[in-house]
Amino acid sequence: MRMETLSVFPQVFAPYLNESIMGRAQRKSIFEFEAHDLRDWTHDRHRTVDDSPFGGGQGMLMKPEPIFEAVEDISSRTDVRPHVVFFSPCGTRYDQSRAEELAERERILFVCGRYEGMDERAYGLADEVFSLGDYVLTGGELAALVVIDSVVRLLPGALGDDMSAKDESFSSGLLEYAQYTRPAEFRGMRVPDVLLSGDHGAVDAWRRRNALERTAMWRPDLLDGVELTPEERDFVRGILDSRKLSNGGVDYGSTQ
Ligand code: SAH
Repeated sequence: MRMETLSVFPQVFAPYLNESIMGRAQRKSIFEFEAHDLRDWTHDRHRTVDDSPFGGGQGMLMKPEPIFEAVEDISSRTDVRPHVVFFSPCGTRYDQSRAEELAERERILFVCGRYEGMDERAYGLADEVFSLGDYVLTGGELAALVVIDSVVRLLPGALGDDMSAKDESFSSGLLEYAQYTRPAEFRGMRVPDVLLSGDHGAVDAWRRRNALERTAMWRPDLLDGVELTPEERDFVRGILDSRKLSNGGVDYGSTQ
């Protein structure tokens, strides 16, 4: 998989992508990364990428010409045309299923906005426009890093243990079950006995129940997309009614 970014701050990506799992995945050639500088496709002495909005208003907008030139030029550099992703608070909400779709692509180009955003015509180049959530960032670079990180960890071999990406929050449509490590008792808080029992069937059953419980408690909106047995449906209904957790009372602060 080849991933590229187009932005006015190309230097911000490497410090993150060269570390830890991202760095190792690059060294193992699980993905290749290249950051392009949008200013390389300007033709004036000041390498101008922005201009004021027609109709007035605050701030500056990214001009369409360098973005068009850059996306066309970058796209034609290899035989595989990239899947072109733009970012905007107006885009489709990015989530794990989008990450899974992107992980199937051979080549992706992420186009990152700055300032007040882009001339609307530039979005015509996008195959997809993603929003990370209902808040406003100063630029698309962080959004691109979030998306790249979430895609790379799905690529075969990127995580040490290939199973670990399959059993996480959202992969089954549910939030992940609670996990514990040593010590078995800490400041009076005991790890649930079943997890110490060595009975794998019982552990799996506890985890499924706990995942259902946490999802019902914190993200009931996710339950609509999950297949439940009639017993599980009753169980979830009970939680929605009582709103009690069996994870030692730790509440992550959700008010849903
Ligand atoms: N004026 C725009 C916001 C521009 S923010 C508006 O009100 O919609 C500048 C850039 O940051 C955007 O072009 C986009 O690339 C990025 N950005 C800001 N918020 C984002 C979000 N929630 N998700 C993804 N990208 C975002």
